[in-house]
Amino acid sequence: MKIKVEPIKVNYYPEVCELCGGKVIITSKEDISGKCYCCVNCGAYAKTYMEEPDKAMTILSTEEMHSLRKKCCSLFRSIWKNAKDSKRVRKCLYGWLADKLKLDCSDCTFSFLNLEQLKSVEKTLLEVRWRTPVFDRNRRLYFR
Ligand SMILES: [Zn+2]
Repeated sequence: MKIKVEPIKVNYYPEVCELCGGKVIITSKEDISGKCYCCVNCGAYAKTYMEEPDKAMTILSTEEMHSLRKKCCSLFRSIWKNAKDSKRVRKCLYGWLADKLKLDCSDCTFSFLNLEQLKSVEKTLLEVRWRTPVFDRNRRLYFR
């Protein structure tokens, strides 16, 4: 079964919330260092870069999306870190995932994935979590 996902539109400078259409302002949040974009309507937020305080690091995200993204990142890390050829696996894992999820490789960073896409990433990573990443004759990554 193929997972269908929408193409990603990356907007580093959001003015309107992708989730609810609410107005987005740059502000600071108590529990976050630096600035963040925040939707005045639904409270979704995106941290910005320290060195570029008006550039968003992620899409506007709910708490659910932020925590799911964290979970995906740690699953992703645990897969390549536990691999025998970890550096090589790390390099190829994004491409593998992008291919699985039918995303452009360049888009396949977790920061700009929406909730549905993050759920697909989580599901895909959980499926291969305890399997062994290996390379075939064409140097393509797969899981045994
Ligand atoms: Zn919103």
